[in-house]
Parts: sequence; C-alpha cells; structure tokens
Amino acid sequence: TKFSDLALDPRVLKAVQEAGYESPTPIQAQAIPHALEGKDVLGIAQTGTGKTASFTLPMITLLGKGRARARMPRSLVLAPTRELAAQVAENFDTYAKHTKLTKALLIGGVSFGEQDKLIDRGVDVLIATPGRLLDHFERGKLLLQGVQIMVVDEADRMLDMGFIPDIERIFSLTPFTRQTFFYSATMAPEIERITNTFLQNAVKIEV
Ligand code: AMP
Repeated sequence: TKFSDLALDPRVLKAVQEAGYESPTPIQAQAIPHALEGKDVLGIAQTGTGKTASFTLPMITLLGKGRARARMPRSLVLAPTRELAAQVAENFDTYAKHTKLTKALLIGGVSFGEQDKLIDRGVDVLIATPGRLLDHFERGKLLLQGVQIMVVDEADRMLDMGFIPDIERIFSLTPFTRQTFFYSATMAPEIERITNTFLQNAVKIEV
C-alpha cells in the first residue's frame, strides 16, 4: 500500500510526504481505509507502530473543510498523560499544517485562562487528558454535543491510572452518532467491556 492509495485529503498527503514517510505502517494501511469509511476502529497496537498517524490522518481528512463553532469541538482526542497528549498535538500540527484546522491542548499544570480563550474562539480538535477535559466541562466552558470523532489513545494506561470512569463519562457526554477510534496495547476485561459498550460495529485491527 502507498499513502496515495488511501483516499486521504491531498493536503494531508503533502504533509506526510514532507515528513519523509515512504509508506504506511501496517496499522495505518489497515485502519485508515475503514476510518475513512466512517467505521469505528479498535486498534490493538503498541507505541512505535505509527498508531498516532493511523487516527490523526483520517481524522484530519474527515473534518475536512467544516468550521468549528465557539465552545463546540468537532473532535476529541484523549490521552492518559500530559506528555502523550502533547505528543499527539505535535503530530496533529505536522499533519494538519496545510489545512486551516485548529486545535487546543488541554492538560493539567497549565492555567485555565489560555485554554479557555482557545475553546471560546472555537477549535476543531481538542487533545486532552481526561481529568482536565472534565474540569473544563464542569466549569461550564465546554460543549461536547458537537463531537463527531472521539479518539481514546493508550486505553490500557488509562486503566492503570484509574481513568476508566472518566472515559465512560466523557463517552456518555458525546453524541451517540460520533465515530470512535479506540487504541490499547492489550485487551484487559475492563477495556473489552468499555469497547463493547461504546463502540459500534468496530473493525478490530491487531498489529
Ligand atoms: P507512534 O507509534 O504513533 O508513536 O509513531 C512512532 C514514530 O513513527 C513517530 O515518530 C512517527 O513520526 C513515525 N511514523 C509514523 N508513521 C510513519 C510512517 N508511515 N513512516 C515512517 N515513520 C512513521
């Protein structure tokens, strides 16, 4: 498979070429076509497999030319740690650089002020740790009914860190019609239960 076979937005393809990627990794080659068809994806993959691009590239393509509205992100990416969330945000910037899509990074240890300003202005993609995302929600600053795509990255680490109740809450605050990309390195029973509850006809990809 080549990236150019994958029906990605040309602006995404250009960014991928500029990043120097020659061909999609196995998780990318398998996940991206299903993601672009609107399917939920359950990815069983470790870090280093290219999993971040496997959800970010189709997400950017699917968000396309739509515009964000104040306080209503169109896409939500949840990561277990600040470092991981920041890494996803960096990847997003690389792959979205030829688009007009906007993002905000919501992590703890930073004042709410700047994050509030971005949310108020309207962002396409929110990249967040679960606790911080819910803090913003509880403060009444954030509306989640516009979320079309939700990503859960490293769910097994979310489980280790006690974030599963937060994840369930966030799932239940987003529309039933959303598309979900869910990634975990392992399938613990608790993870299996969540995917059975919140994913619909998911395509399972194991690399
Ligand atoms: P990840 O598994 O998402 O943490 O990605 C691991 C590393 O692989 C990152 O540094 C990416 O920039 C890089 N990467 C992702 N996809 C590709 C690709 N198709 N070809 C070459 N490098 C890639």
